[in-house]
Parts: sequence; structure tokens; C-alpha cells
Amino acid sequence: MLVLVLNCGSSSVKWKVVDTAARAAVRVGLVERVGPSGEVGHAQAVERVLAQVADLAVEAVGHRVVHGGEDLTAPVRIDADVEATIERLAPLAPLHNPVNLAGIRAARARLPGVPHVAVFDTAFHHTLPRRARTYALDPAVAEPAGIRRFGFHGTSHAFVAREAAAWLEVPLDALRLVTLHLGNGASACAVEHGRSVETSMGMTPLEGLVMGTRSGDLDPGALLALLRQEGATVDSVDRLLHHRSGLAGLSGAGNDLRDIEERAAAGDDRARLAIAVFAHRVRKYVGAYAAAMGGLDAVVFTGGIGENAVAMRRRILQRLEFLGLVLDEDRNTAARVSPDRRVAEISDETSRVRALVVATDEELEIALEAAAVARGQAAVADGPGQIPIAISARHVHLDRATTDALFGPGHELTPRSPLSQTGQFTCEETVSLIGPRHRIDGVRVLGPLRKQTQVEISRTDEFFLGVDAPIRASGHLEGSAPITLEGPKGSVQLKEGLICSWRHIHMSPDDARRFGVDDGDQVQVEVSGGPRDLTFGDVLIRVHPSFRLELHLDTDEGNAAELSRGATGCLHRLDAAEGRLLSRRPTRRLRASEARRGR
Ligand code: ADP
Repeated sequence: MLVLVLNCGSSSVKWKVVDTAARAAVRVGLVERVGPSGEVGHAQAVERVLAQVADLAVEAVGHRVVHGGEDLTAPVRIDADVEATIERLAPLAPLHNPVNLAGIRAARARLPGVPHVAVFDTAFHHTLPRRARTYALDPAVAEPAGIRRFGFHGTSHAFVAREAAAWLEVPLDALRLVTLHLGNGASACAVEHGRSVETSMGMTPLEGLVMGTRSGDLDPGALLALLRQEGATVDSVDRLLHHRSGLAGLSGAGNDLRDIEERAAAGDDRARLAIAVFAHRVRKYVGAYAAAMGGLDAVVFTGGIGENAVAMRRRILQRLEFLGLVLDEDRNTAARVSPDRRVAEISDETSRVRALVVATDEELEIALEAAAVARGQAAVADGPGQIPIAISARHVHLDRATTDALFGPGHELTPRSPLSQTGQFTCEETVSLIGPRHRIDGVRVLGPLRKQTQVEISRTDEFFLGVDAPIRASGHLEGSAPITLEGPKGSVQLKEGLICSWRHIHMSPDDARRFGVDDGDQVQVEVSGGPRDLTFGDVLIRVHPSFRLELHLDTDEGNAAELSRGATGCLHRLDAAEGRLLSRRPTRRLRASEARRGR
């Protein structure tokens, strides 16, 4: 698939057209002097880019977006809702999200026929455990102000972690890595079993390592002292920390490490100190992250400095022998990485912890992510790509005779609230289930009446009741389990009718056509973006003109994936050509899920 990747920055628009099957760029470019202080606006810049790719059959556009906040934690196809969310998050990334959005709007207006996908710098870090994303502030103050750690450079950390695993020939989910993205912006990430569990940038990209012009970590007391200086304003301190600190501030020689190294070699003390502070800070994080993960398998260098600065890598890795990391000086000096040769190893043969240099390629990663989303949704281009998930608690469908016996002859069910499937409703009535071991009271009756009474419980209920219920599709009750029902007016011993519901997707014939499935098919549904990603196999497709698209899971299944309101899943198929998931589901979750996550 040919994907145009747009990276709209404050003063430039970087772009690349990527052939995702070949994993290679077919055309690249840069429009400079963009924005309020430049010559062209973002819309014009995007127009120039599109003119330069007009002869290419671009099938999707991948947009780099810096901040996805708590709601956008995976690549997502852009619609009006997604645009609105990116806009709402602007205060968290004032320099980036507004210009990212300007690019999105311009590109969508001019290329309306292809899917546009947003890929977020923050997304990879949505797995940060609670202890790693929380600042030690009173939550009553921090939460309303949105003060928590997010992390950035996620696209790069994710990409190089995967490349490193492939090089080491160890599955990513068996590795503990520290990835170091050292460029003008710099961040470290602890990637434990493929998930980001710590990262050095926090609520904003200002925390953590020493950067080209950004300070990184600073005592908040120092910030207060700066603000209290005579003549200081919030804006002046903001400029100081973002633009006049880091390597540039320390060295007084600009932000390019090559210049600083030259000066240091000539005896310039400020330049020497800048290098020493930079390396010390990175080394400190490597040790801290090894401790946070309880061990370390490899350190991965990337970014302009990580990929090229031989002497800086040597300094950073000094004195890490105690961790089992031994640098090979010759390999370090000889290491060259490029899109053709992405990985170079710089650790010694005897080193237990490996050290790698990996050429990052954020545009390729964005293109692959965008292609995965676009393909997954190509079949449902004009319909919903995500499948809403409903968790069914234990419940009972009654027939006429059982209703009469439990609630009295001729009893009419009292509707309580409508269910999403047309004509179905919960009732005021409840019954008790009586098993050999225990009873469960207050089990909700669902209306309307059916031809045959059917009781649906979870595996946990089954053990509690002491019964053995088969997994069945609704209505398939031959040979199902017996159970006793008790109502206010009497009880009924059912010879059969008790089942564990076979997880299933309700869909209309139109949905089925768009997903390319038939009634009775079994598919997989991937649920991710939450605390416990899970792919459900053996999901039954049920097609009927009256059905609304919805995946029904029972409470055990919902709990296993820690699902909460608003969760969605995606049909899961493999793209044989690229070996990637076709429909990496862009789940968006409600904030409630964040609150529940406990991480
Ligand atoms: P950005 O974060 O803006 O994408 P890069 O990842 O391109 O930045 O990193 C740019 C920085 O990499 C430069 O400022 C320079 O300091 C550093 N760099 C590039 N090549 C070398 C080199 N050979 N030696 C030392 N530093 C280098």
C-alpha cells in the first residue's frame, strides 16, 4: 500500500510516501518556512506536498499527531470526532496539536477519497502503570488539571524495540529493553515485554533527559526560584526551559552535539560539562529503568545522537559492566546504520546485556500503522469499523408457561429499559436460580417472551451453582443443562435450558457484507488499548436484518480483558503479505475506563 505520511511541525511540513509492502520510502520531501512566521500557511504547505505526489496512487494518509491524551491510545481513522478530540487536547501540546490538526484538515479537504489515520506520539506509552504515570501530587489538584505523565516519541520507541527484538531473534514479549531516542528531543523508555512501563518525558516533552535546547529534569523548586526572579514571567521562563537550556544552554555553543564535541576537544569547559551532564543523565536513566524492570536484556540507541555519536555512546555505557553490559570499542566505532542496514550491535561477545544501534524510522512506522488501520477498515469504508462491546450479565429469557408458573397465570412482563437490539428489553421481574450447591437471587428477566425458556450464566456462576452448562449459541438448547427457577408465585424445574452463551457478534446483512463474513462464521476479535489486551477466538457471527452491530461477552470474558463502558473490538485477520494485523483496532475508551485501569 502506498501511504503518504505527513508530519506537520510548527515551522515545517515533513512528508514521505512509503510503500508499506517494501517497507521503503518512494519519495520524500520537506516544506520549510511554514506557519505564522513563515512564508506559507499549513494548508498551502499541504497543497504543495499533494502537488508533488499527484502522480502516485496514494491509498492512505498517515498523520503524525503528538498528543492523543487519555482517549486516543492507538492509531485511529480520522473523522470529525477524532479531529475534535485532537483539538480539545491542544492545551497539552500547544506547539504541536494545533499544527498537526491544521495539516489533517487541509489534507482531508483535498484528499477526501482516502482514509486518513492519526498516529500518536503518546500512544505507545498508554500502558504506563499507574505508579509510573502519577506525579506525587494531591489527585484533587492533579486530576482536574490533567497533570499526569504521558510520554512521547512512542512511535520511535515502538519501532526500534521491534527492530531490536527481530535482530536479537527473541520475541519482543520476552525482552526487557531500554530504548534511548537521543536527537534534538531525547527520551528513554523501559520496554518490558513489548510494553512501555516507564519513560522519561512526562506530562509534556520537557521532562527527562538533557535535550538540544530543553532542560529535561529540573527541581520544581528551581522553577519556582526562576519565576521569582525579578522581571521573570511565565513566558520568559517557558522560553528559557524550552529554547535556551539543554546542550545549547549548558555549552553556549548551540544545540548541535558535533559543534559541542569540537569545542570540548579544544578545551572548552562549558562544552565538556554539557557532554558530561548529557551522558550522566542518560546513564542514570538506564540504571533506573533496569531496576524498574527488575533486569535488562538490551540497550537500544537511536535518534541523531544515538545513531551517530560514537563518543557519546561510549560515555553513556561507561561503568555499566556491573549490569552485565560490556561495550566493544571497535564495533561502537564502526557502527553505521541506515534504512538498508537498520541494526548494528556494539556490545562485546561476552556481554550478557546487549547494546544495539538502530536506525529509527518514524515515518515508516506511521505508514505501517496507517496501512493497518486503513486496510482493516477498507471493507467497512462507509460503515463502522469498530464493534461496540456489550457485557451481558446473567439473565433469563422466559416462555409463556414458565412465566405463568413463576409469576402467576397470564402475567405480563414489565419493561424496565430497552436493550440495544431492537425490541429487546430488560424487565422489572427477576428470578432465582437454584443449583445443587448454591442459589443466585435477583437474576434479571429479559423480554419479550420467547418460545423456550433459556438461562444464560457465566463460568463463574456455573461453579457457584454447582452445575455444568454447555457453551451454546442462543436458541440451541437441545441437551443443555437442567436448572431450577424460583419466582414469587412458584418454581419450575427445567430439564434443559441452562447455557453459557457462546460469545457472538450481532450484525445486519449489510454489516456482514462489509466485514466479509456470513452467519455462522467464527472470527477473532481483538480488544486492545486497555489494561489487558486480549484477542477472543471462536466468536460466532450472527446475522439478522433486525440486529445492530454488537459483540456480546459475558462478565467473565469482560473481566478477563478488564473491559469497561465504551470498549470496542475489531475483527482480526492477518495480512499475509506484510505479516501484520489487518485491523489493528483503534479503540477509543471512555475516561471511566482510565479511572478503572489502576495503572
Ligand atoms: P530531531 O530530534 O530534531 O529529529 P535528530 O534525531 O535528527 O533530531 O538529531 C539531531 C542531532 O543529532 C543533531 O543536533 C546533532 O547534535 C546530533 N548528531 C547527528 N550526527 C552526529 C554525529 N555524527 N556526532 C554527534 N552528534 C550528531
